[in-house]
Amino acid sequence: MIAMIADQFETFLFDLDGVVHLGDEALPHAVDSVNRLYEREKRIRFLTNDPRPTRETVASRLRELGIRVDEGEIVTAAWAAAVHLRREGVATAAAVGSEGLQTELRQQGITVTDESPDAVVVGADEQTTYADIRRATRHIDRGAQFIGTSPDGAFPTPDGPAPGAGAIVRAVETATGTSPTVVGKPEPLMFEAALEGLPVGQNGVVIGDNPATDIRGAHRAGLTGVLVADETPVAASARDFAHPDAVIRSLAGLFSRTATPWKSPDYSWPEDIRPGVGAVVLNESGEVLLLKRADRERWALPTGTVERGEAVVEAISREVREETGLRVTVDRLTGVYSHPKQQVFSYPSGETVHFVTNCFLCSVDGGTLEADRDEALDVGFFDTDRHPGGILPMHPRWITDAVEGTTVTIA
Ligand SMILES: [Mg+2]
Repeated sequence: MIAMIADQFETFLFDLDGVVHLGDEALPHAVDSVNRLYEREKRIRFLTNDPRPTRETVASRLRELGIRVDEGEIVTAAWAAAVHLRREGVATAAAVGSEGLQTELRQQGITVTDESPDAVVVGADEQTTYADIRRATRHIDRGAQFIGTSPDGAFPTPDGPAPGAGAIVRAVETATGTSPTVVGKPEPLMFEAALEGLPVGQNGVVIGDNPATDIRGAHRAGLTGVLVADETPVAASARDFAHPDAVIRSLAGLFSRTATPWKSPDYSWPEDIRPGVGAVVLNESGEVLLLKRADRERWALPTGTVERGEAVVEAISREVREETGLRVTVDRLTGVYSHPKQQVFSYPSGETVHFVTNCFLCSVDGGTLEADRDEALDVGFFDTDRHPGGILPMHPRWITDAVEGTTVTIA
């Protein structure tokens, strides 16, 4: 019978600061517990978002604490960025950050150069200057891929918080108007790099002290997440990916507690929540307007997002006009939909958004029915209870609510 986390899993991915050590000091039971896992021949990796040190530097610090670790078991955000670029076939990269970052890039076979690089990797260290941010900005402006090592805006020091790599990454993002590919926790690339070379299907667990990065990141990567904390945090919802599968007070808990293994749900974790609008547009015969969306190749009601300066009623009139060529009158609100599964959409750009959609009953007021080529492959009116195949799963209910529902006043 399995009675402890140490027996439940084969691969252990440890966050470092706040889990194994705090500053320069090992945390209680940490060294013993990790070494007991080594004795059981578990596969172990240590993860840090700090892009400054090389893996060898991190390994020698852990050896000083008494952990018998090998350089190959260390995963830094800089190394993971270098692994990502190598896997993408990138040959040259400019680096904003430490010697350690440049060393990791070179060790993956990437030439570090400012002569028309294919990519620019933005980490940061104490020597990063305005000139570095300008250099990165100009490479990206000329078409270089933009990689950020880590998202952390600040990290603690004895004198107070210090700007982290994420602060510099966002400076470059603001200057270029380009979103970076971020590698560090909670992004899945960090965990993918950590699992490289391990047998497929190894039962993996992440142990960390930060629900928002360690636990959410574990779950986004499909791994179980164990939180080291004195208290169980209260998650916003049972669906919040930051909710841990077990909470232990120290690493000794790996030998006394069990974790509920994480099962990935069939929806993604959204980066953003946006106000959406949807329209049930009926013609004189009581048929409903549907379009076959170009982005997902599925039939759907006209939908869109509310732009700045726009009321929801204006937004849906505009969306219907843009997508189908028809002018509509908005009659009434028929429902507000925000299902955290059905209303989450992933786009080819990699962006994942949860829409809170206000749905309206509308009638046709003019215009000519015509599919906008960028938005829709086809448009047409259909029976309200006989839809074409491949309609988005929540839209039949929205149509029923609109046709059968009672009047809701809108303003
Ligand atoms: Mg930590």
